[in-house]
Amino acid sequence: MSGNPYPLGLRLAGRRVVVVGGGAVATRRVPALLDAGADVFLVAPELTPALRAHVDAGRLHWAPRRFAPDDLDGAWLVHAAIDDPTAAASISAAAAERRIFCVRADDRAAATAWTPAVTRHGPVTVAVLGGGDPRRSMAVRDAIRVLLDARRGPLAAPAVAAGPLPVGRVALVGAGPGDPELITVKGWRLLTEADVVVADRLVPGLLLDELRADVELVDASKIPYGPSRAQEEINRILVERALAGGFVVRLKGGDPYVFGRGGEELLACAAAGVPVTVVPGVTSAIAAPAVAGVPVTHRGVAHEFTVVSGHVAPDSPASLVRWDALAGLRGTLVVLMGLKNLAAITATLLAHGRPAQTPAAVVQEATTGAQRVLRSTLGTVAADVAAEGLRPPAVVVVGDVVTTLDG
Ligand code: SAH
Repeated sequence: MSGNPYPLGLRLAGRRVVVVGGGAVATRRVPALLDAGADVFLVAPELTPALRAHVDAGRLHWAPRRFAPDDLDGAWLVHAAIDDPTAAASISAAAAERRIFCVRADDRAAATAWTPAVTRHGPVTVAVLGGGDPRRSMAVRDAIRVLLDARRGPLAAPAVAAGPLPVGRVALVGAGPGDPELITVKGWRLLTEADVVVADRLVPGLLLDELRADVELVDASKIPYGPSRAQEEINRILVERALAGGFVVRLKGGDPYVFGRGGEELLACAAAGVPVTVVPGVTSAIAAPAVAGVPVTHRGVAHEFTVVSGHVAPDSPASLVRWDALAGLRGTLVVLMGLKNLAAITATLLAHGRPAQTPAAVVQEATTGAQRVLRSTLGTVAADVAAEGLRPPAVVVVGDVVTTLDG
């Protein structure tokens, strides 16, 4: 196909986009489609855990099978995110028959549409097409990103990727609670310099969407063992890639050291002689209440806030939390990973004297487009969460600060 590409901004809200394939390419493409509000229809026998999480959350429709031509009926665009050229060609043919543009992961030359290298700055989206050369489009995009970042302040101007990349180290980077703009400037810069990115499930998908195509992306939630073996495996990957000379960014939801096992990763790297930088992140413990209108402290209302994990039930022998003591505090209590045990947690706090009418709020998927906020009291919050069907990830905040800013 000849001729220059004709750039367009597709307005996909509510429009069907078919993605064929459930692997790494689809994992990178889907977040931007969802961000555009597209009605995403995913066709693939198997999915990565990140894609499955979108399905579980009801953000897209999944047909767990191979592609059939009439999957494209009613679609505006299709992504053939598979590397089997025969299958991709049949998707492409079905698309052409229906006059639907088809992006192909396997063969750019045969595609009717190309995905540009993208950088987003608030309302501004810059999309670069490199005349068929993805490396060129990414280099230009990176240079534009530097210019746009530089306008935000001196700290934001990274050295352009022309020089040698830093080698043989690990950065534990907090990605923030969900909104991709809530990563720190430093975290963002290190992400753009990484050779390898090891990402958690809670990491904002749009951050991964902007990675260079040659970056190795390891989905930590995909590691097929129980939690403790999986953590050993993550530690091993960090150390191994760094010892091989790579710059590894371990991207973690929120702050790396708030219930994130960042300390274990630091110790594993230190034991192997791998230097580690820690880049703190905006933790959901503070951000989730904040975006729901709840300041964790307020003059004259709360002079303390306590952040506690609720993933172990209060009466479990494995619990390290003095719930009885927490019940005696007057300040703000923030519970992470607390939905499953919420009834037991609130019952314990009530039994040890925290008043039932203490205001409480629950913030689900804070700072994302799917954010939900529930306001209640300590006495009724567990029942309200069940009735409203709130799901993890969610933060529960208890204390008078919950109603302090109410008009
Ligand atoms: N290191 C993370 C917390 C990891 S534990 C941080 O600092 O935020 C995972 C828990 O964090 C979830 O179960 C939930 O309680 C909370 N969480 C993380 N992101 C969240 C979000 N966007 N909205 C609400 N809660 C969130």
